[in-house]
Amino acid sequence: MNIILFGPPGAGKGTQADLLKRDYGLAHLSTGDMLRAAVAAGTDVGLQAKSVMDAGKLVSDELITNVVADRIEEADCAKGFILDGFPRTLPQAQALDRMLESKTKQIDVVLEIRVPDDILVGRIEKRAAETGGARADDNPETLKQRLAIYHEQTAPVLPYYDQSGHLRVIDGNQPVDTVTASIRDALA
Ligand code: AMP
Repeated sequence: MNIILFGPPGAGKGTQADLLKRDYGLAHLSTGDMLRAAVAAGTDVGLQAKSVMDAGKLVSDELITNVVADRIEEADCAKGFILDGFPRTLPQAQALDRMLESKTKQIDVVLEIRVPDDILVGRIEKRAAETGGARADDNPETLKQRLAIYHEQTAPVLPYYDQSGHLRVIDGNQPVDTVTASIRDALA
């Protein structure tokens, strides 16, 4: 089973993806985590991504699509994968479809975790305090930028998956367990 997880920063995608990974044996492919690892390792991809990420902007569609295409080939994706943070633009969604077709794979379910903006701001402030600022982009200014980009560029991808009948909307403004239960229902 291959899943896409959509949701704004702070919606709980990472938490839910970890639970899906455990319960369904799927690989968790967070493009944010992959890019942060590339930055830490000082690879070419990391060097290209760092300043863009720090500013809360999006790296190029081509760069991120290539990163995902390589990652999907790895052994832990054999049972399926959860895409977390990709696609984030319509061109990325279209590139993903072409890429999966060439690998004779497909997306089975698209989950949108919906949380109001004012709740997200509180959650990110909490995450920043708890992690001692480990993520350079977890600050109020950058969060505003990341939320604006989510609404401008990522939310318009949702109708693309709604039209194909794959989209399931999950109320993310609930306790973690309740959100997980809703996701299980959507996958059943
Ligand atoms: P995230 O951890 O998903 O919030 O991602 C952190 C940052 O990585 C984003 O703000 C972007 O700069 C970059 N990034 C992650 N995924 C993508 C993507 N699919 N397209 C473009 N940039 C991305």
